[in-house]
Amino acid sequence: MSLLEEYARVTGPDVIAQLQQLTQPLQGMKLVHVSSTRSGGGVAEILNKMVPLTRELGIDTQWEVISGDSDFFECTKGMHNTLQGNRIPLGDHLLQSYEATNAHNAERLRPTLEAADFVFIHDPQPAALLGLCPNRRGKWIWRCHIDASHPYRPVWKYLRQFVAPYDASVFSLAAFAQELPHPQYLIPPSIDPLAEKNIDLDEETIAEICDQYQIDRQRPLIVQISRFDRFKDPVGVIQAYRLAKRYLPGLQLVLAGGGAADDPEGEVVLDEVKTAAAYDADIHVLLLPPDANLEVNALQRAADIVVQKSLREGFGLTVTEAMWKGKPVIGGDVGGIRLQVVNYHTGFLVNTPEGAALRIRYLLHQKERLEEMGAKAKALVRDNFLITRHLREYLTLMVALLN
Ligand code: UDP
Repeated sequence: MSLLEEYARVTGPDVIAQLQQLTQPLQGMKLVHVSSTRSGGGVAEILNKMVPLTRELGIDTQWEVISGDSDFFECTKGMHNTLQGNRIPLGDHLLQSYEATNAHNAERLRPTLEAADFVFIHDPQPAALLGLCPNRRGKWIWRCHIDASHPYRPVWKYLRQFVAPYDASVFSLAAFAQELPHPQYLIPPSIDPLAEKNIDLDEETIAEICDQYQIDRQRPLIVQISRFDRFKDPVGVIQAYRLAKRYLPGLQLVLAGGGAADDPEGEVVLDEVKTAAAYDADIHVLLLPPDANLEVNALQRAADIVVQKSLREGFGLTVTEAMWKGKPVIGGDVGGIRLQVVNYHTGFLVNTPEGAALRIRYLLHQKERLEEMGAKAKALVRDNFLITRHLREYLTLMVALLN
């Protein structure tokens, strides 16, 4: 069965026919995605699925990853943090590394990028490539996955000089859009229902994976899956768990995450989390390898409630993944989580550990409500956040830029 036929089984054949129709004017065209890592984090997650799908639709698609040293990733992590609101200037040597690394990567990528009909540049890391490809013939799109609603102005001003010459930019939410001299499109991300991370699992597999991590399936479980990043507020989740546990003594918490190759802060934050979790055998801090898709799937399915207590969040694919599994989500009242967690319907939006603890207690005491919210969560994802909808919007954008 072709990939498209497999999707048709989940979404219905009309959705696939529409994609094929939209792709007509794009047949044989060359599309290149550029990002900064092939594994870890939401961008890699999406591209891993999007690329084979656009290939099957007849678009000649390539995915390139830029390489850099520790100064470069320190700089781009700093950009990420400051675009999400931290107010820390980036040192000159880091900015020099940013430009030098983009120049170095441009040497390798220039022939591919200049020949492409469409180039999608993901996030700030490779954003300077456009200025380094003077003979480009295609349309270039800057795809910002970050919660840029309150960027630290000096850093945005610096980055903006590289982004302004693009033909279009794409943000996940209206609140993230910036003043730019080109059209901006709002396209939220998506999940792949056929991915190992999201397919149905039998009870046996879930039980085996829980056993492996010594999780007791007879007791209530809350789970947050995230990179160890302060914006994901793992320590706040531990506080919420502790507050809720006073009333639910059997409560267990899983904080599972892996590093992302482009995230140098992970280890420090993991240490903070381990310190905060000390001496509690019911807190499972799991460091997962990047290919632990089945484990993530099983943990999300084993959870009674999934938590994503982020303080800033571009979109929050972990929220989508959990909702697709019929779980209500208690999420931070920020960024893309607001698009998915419809307060009191598909979960709860919270601002503090106290708020999260209150909602955890409520849902674990009201099982009917929990089930009902979980069902609504799944329906919301089916209607809005599957890869087929995402792809349709990218194709529409490409067709619009052809004219
Ligand atoms: N993820 C994973 N293993 C981990 C942590 C995260 O596979 O240990 C995945 C997670 O399931 C999701 C993506 O990485 O698909 C994270 O995307 P999200 O938008 O939630 O956050 P980001 O990391 O991009 O800020």
